[in-house]
Amino acid sequence: MNLPVRQTTTPRPKMKEADLGFGRVFADHMMIAEYTAEQGWQNARIEPYGPMAMDPAAGVFHYGQAMFEGLKAFRTADGGVSLFRPEHHCARMQRGAPRLCMPSVEPKLMQAWASQLVKVDEAWVPSSAGTALYLRPTLIATEGYLGVRPASRYTFFIISSPVGAYYAGGVKPVRIWVEREQTRAAHGGLGSVKAGANYAASLLAAQNAKKEGYDQVLWLDADKHEQIEEVGTMNLFAYVGDELVTPPLSDSILAGVTRDCVIQLARDAGIKVVERTITMSEVQAAHAKGSLKEVFGSGTAAVISPVGELALGGKTKLSINKGEVGPLAGRLYEEISGIQRGTRPDKYGWLTKV
Ligand SMILES: *Cc1c(COP(=O)(O)O)cnc(C)c1O
Repeated sequence: MNLPVRQTTTPRPKMKEADLGFGRVFADHMMIAEYTAEQGWQNARIEPYGPMAMDPAAGVFHYGQAMFEGLKAFRTADGGVSLFRPEHHCARMQRGAPRLCMPSVEPKLMQAWASQLVKVDEAWVPSSAGTALYLRPTLIATEGYLGVRPASRYTFFIISSPVGAYYAGGVKPVRIWVEREQTRAAHGGLGSVKAGANYAASLLAAQNAKKEGYDQVLWLDADKHEQIEEVGTMNLFAYVGDELVTPPLSDSILAGVTRDCVIQLARDAGIKVVERTITMSEVQAAHAKGSLKEVFGSGTAAVISPVGELALGGKTKLSINKGEVGPLAGRLYEEISGIQRGTRPDKYGWLTKV
């Protein structure tokens, strides 16, 4: 299967890899397809990256029928390009779409589309350590109709962005604000789906946290604000005593692909990994006792993000591992990014050549 390609006639200027940052520059091409209830997915193609004409009454603008994925293509040590666990990202999008009454794209087809796009823009895959070509598959309702019901027309597209090392100058611990008032996702809601709406719900708390000097927000359960859920762009792990604990997946937690990598790698390294409820009181008690060894987040963008501080309500501040990168977080980062770059054996078959 090969999509028709309309090549750009105006290639975009490339940036120095050291200046890439995250999600600010985009590769030359995008993949795009349209869906109608009568014909299913059609007109799949690759064309120059650029603005799309849309009906201002399109469902995505009014009722938020929108979801996305985020996966990476890496330049491996042998000079080739591989996608990291693409089948999981494609399957997750397929699973999530029905929750928003959207049509899904068959995972194998989506992966083939992503693969071809990366091939077309292969020159955009950066090669220095910590860099990648980040792919953003997106699904939106495009039918122009203001009645409240699922739309009958959709657009699926994939754009890509060369991204720099998330932490220029090495992995650095983040400072996290524990949010005790606002809620990202509640049981029965959209939390386990990569819906744009979840991010809309999270922006204000994140902005408030920034004002207080914190990098990210830790979300707790919507009911009592006691059980740890996740960090909104990352799943959370706490190394307590000799157990690596992460909250069990539920309909308010996104099932991270990186979370799955961490669980597998840690178990294979002989660490006891437990998926169970963990409360803020338990974390505070463990911190007081000295048994809270490390806390870190996992997600495609940063891979592993060590947490150096947790702030509860601005008064109680828990410094974790003296605000430094813990040995387990450091090891997991090296291991996962080594597999991604092809400098460590891919013993789980996580890489797929494009
Ligand atoms: C994408 C995302 C994650 C991380 O998932 P990965 O598959 O590891 O990138 C965690 N939480 C939320 C809410 C997310 O949207």
